[in-house]
Amino acid sequence: MADIKTIGVLTSGGDAPGMNAAIRAVVRTGAAAGVRVIGIKRGFTGLLDKEFVDMDPERVSEIMELGGTILYTARCSKFLEAEYQQMAADNLAQSGIDGLVVIGGDGSYRGAKCLADLGVHVVGVPGTIDFDIGSTDYTIGFDTAVNTAVSAIDKITDTSTSHERCSIIEVMGRNVGYIALWCHIANGADGILIPEKDEFDEQALIDSILNNRRKGRKHHIIINAEGVGRSNRLAKRIEAATGIETRATILGYIQRGGTPTAKDRVYASTMGAYAVDLLLRGEEHRVVAYKDGKFMDFDLGEAITMKKSIEEYQFLLRGLEGRESAGRA
Ligand code: ATP
Repeated sequence: MADIKTIGVLTSGGDAPGMNAAIRAVVRTGAAAGVRVIGIKRGFTGLLDKEFVDMDPERVSEIMELGGTILYTARCSKFLEAEYQQMAADNLAQSGIDGLVVIGGDGSYRGAKCLADLGVHVVGVPGTIDFDIGSTDYTIGFDTAVNTAVSAIDKITDTSTSHERCSIIEVMGRNVGYIALWCHIANGADGILIPEKDEFDEQALIDSILNNRRKGRKHHIIINAEGVGRSNRLAKRIEAATGIETRATILGYIQRGGTPTAKDRVYASTMGAYAVDLLLRGEEHRVVAYKDGKFMDFDLGEAITMKKSIEEYQFLLRGLEGRESAGRA
């Protein structure tokens, strides 16, 4: 066992449902091992401003079911500079924090690596709705975000059907298309645009909309990823080419909030506990991951270089488009 007496925990980057379950697990696993846990507010910004708050098991009761993060989060541009990274490491040392759990996305991992290189004992936990961390097949918040988006698209589909419209629905994901791909399959959408595939054939989509409309289909749903954007322009072009009323809906931040799914609660809890166990064992410079059906950990530097890409087989699934049988009504 390493001689860790105080662990800090912070959430960084975009908030993700399930982060609270991870914080709770860090606090309670630490407390069970007799370790003091300090919450650091507003990610790396709070580390620079010494926004430290003592966490005890009571403080994290009844937070598992809450979306967002009780520690707040931030994007901190100052932290890109070596001077501020050193200040953060000094703040940790001065406050007696000898282990740090960073819950966030790939950017937060890069920030965590800077601290690790300055000698801080850091463990990263993957927290991002975007799913874009190469070292893991699970990231906190993706499952909830996808379920929220799928349910919103179901609702839009109802009104789209009633008005016999075409709907372009833009979902989040920054510069990756995982949420879009999952919504495409789960909602039986007619088309998908993601930043990873720039060879999108707009004319083929228009032809298929017209063909399905001729067969009697009442609505058409196209999923567009945030990284492609310009949904309103696409809607105008499709309406002009097909003559079918076409509306764009940008789902936006609704996808970040809300009660985490059971999967996000369970995986985030497991990963938070795993991170503390790593620190207690004297491990540092690690990230927690879920890979090949198991919870495991990787070297932080190695994890940052690991790549992930869209599952080609899922992207190429054919014949599943369109949830409504043409000509049903
Ligand atoms: P999300 O996937 O939700 O966007 P993220 O962790 O990838 O989460 P970013 O905004 O990319 O979000 O990064 C969060 C913070 O991590 C940044 O605001 C910055 O403080 C820090 N960070 C990002 N990249 C670096 C880097 N190269 N060096 C040091 N710190 C970094």
